[in-house]
Amino acid sequence: MSDVQKTAVVTGGARGIGRAICLALAAKGINIVTCYSKSSAAAEEVIAECEKLGVKGLCVKADVSVAEDVTALIEAAKAEFGRVDILVNNAGITRDNLIMGISEEDFDSVIATNLKGAFLATKAVSRLMIKQRGGRIINISSVVGVSGNAGQANYSASKAGLLGLTKSVAKELGGRGVTVNAIAPGFIETDMTDALSDDVKSAMLSGIPMKRLGKPEDVANLVAFLASDEAAYITGQVICVDGGMAV
Ligand code: NDP
Repeated sequence: MSDVQKTAVVTGGARGIGRAICLALAAKGINIVTCYSKSSAAAEEVIAECEKLGVKGLCVKADVSVAEDVTALIEAAKAEFGRVDILVNNAGITRDNLIMGISEEDFDSVIATNLKGAFLATKAVSRLMIKQRGGRIINISSVVGVSGNAGQANYSASKAGLLGLTKSVAKELGGRGVTVNAIAPGFIETDMTDALSDDVKSAMLSGIPMKRLGKPEDVANLVAFLASDEAAYITGQVICVDGGMAV
């Protein structure tokens, strides 16, 4: 893969961790395709910032929970750049509540975005990556997918599901030079965690050995490594980026 101009598809790149991932990959000279469901202006801005780093970019409106949208996203990437070398399944939502308060709708929407979205995109790039004889799929799971969390049964289930998806597809595609790994971030400073109450934030902070929240770049740096040629023999792994939270 090293001599070609690589292209990455990063879902949900408009804000937070996805934005940092787009910029980290662009800084490595990788063309960036991202999608948004609502944040069109922010997504266009991220692509403009990537282009300032000397790569090409493309921004597509696509809801990752909708199969036609995901197919169109991957087709748009193929049409623009001719290939997809890296897929980062980053788009995600929370609908937190205790188990007795989670509505069927809030369970379904979290699973549809966080887990089905990754399945759809992975399925859409698999054939292409096999044809290209290589690729990188990186799933942004969560430390709560590893350990569970009271008040997040739907979200934790979706993130734990991503780990099963990661390991299974790693076994299926390993022989074709495609690596599939999951990153399990801890408590990272983004819009998603801004929404938590101060009580929840300080309780979480007390469980972090490094005594600070993570930054989106802490996750993006690992994505950039897993996407690189240097990470060619790492597959099926779940790597926590959490300041020691899950230890
Ligand atoms: P944010 O809420 O800041 O950003 C979420 C991103 O996902 C946005 O760009 C949003 O775009 C996009 N998105 C949401 N739903 C859809 C959809 N249906 N289709 C397309 N895009 C969508 O979250 P973070 O940056 O914090 O989180 C990024 C990922 O990291 C998520 O998967 C999250 O679960 C995971 N994570 C985050 C942690 C944290 O502490 N922040 C910890 C562990 C994991 P739009 O506005 O257009 O909908």
